[in-house]
Amino acid sequence: MRALIFSDIHANLDALEAVLAAAPQHDATWDLGDVVGYGGSPNEVIERVRSLPAITHVRGNHDKVCCGESSALSFNPIAREAAMWTQSILTEENNQWLRDLPHGPVDIEGRNATISHGSPLDEDLYILNIREAWPALQQMRTQTTFFGHTHVQGGFGWNEGQWFEMKPTYQASSGVASWSLPLAEGTHYLINPGSIGQPRDGDWRAAFCLLDEAAQEITFYRVPYDLARAQGRILMAGLPERLAQRLRDGR
Ligand code: ZN
Repeated sequence: MRALIFSDIHANLDALEAVLAAAPQHDATWDLGDVVGYGGSPNEVIERVRSLPAITHVRGNHDKVCCGESSALSFNPIAREAAMWTQSILTEENNQWLRDLPHGPVDIEGRNATISHGSPLDEDLYILNIREAWPALQQMRTQTTFFGHTHVQGGFGWNEGQWFEMKPTYQASSGVASWSLPLAEGTHYLINPGSIGQPRDGDWRAAFCLLDEAAQEITFYRVPYDLARAQGRILMAGLPERLAQRLRDGR
């Protein structure tokens, strides 16, 4: 069984298409939320992910705000402006689809894995360091929990009182790059595939990962995409310029 795992597409259609084209063959797809918000193609991105076979979703904080399920008061002004614009152009059907997304965490049926947008202990909580990862690592029963929300690729592990942090190290800083992590028995993992549509770890390329159960391995990927086109869609929508600029910086 091989699963494609991604998070934080943030309405970036060009990055999503590049990821789908580059992803190795897989049997299932796990989406960790924030399908919309920030980017210029919310309807197109929702329709694309809805068309994917064998996909399991959890909702993200932007998904909740963009469909009106929760308030934008906790958002900074730029995120709020993007959420309001998204809400204004979503079709009725896509708005309803966002409202129906499940609250995380969700255990994947028949697999030793859980998916969540933020922490599995609280879907809106950020996990950025080992201190924040610690309570979740202690409490998860499945071997691996996949989470997003921070837009930073990598993760954390815990085994018999030993914990460690993982960050993919890529040979190439351009083109498609990959980095594999062998899974050790008895170790619990919190894995972040990174963000497809708005990376914040200094690498502008779209991020995702692939779980290969038979090989007991997770491979992280970075894929270049048509950045200028994605930026153009943000500007054409009249969204803040900063949202287009930050895509190039990966911040
Ligand atoms: Zn996000």
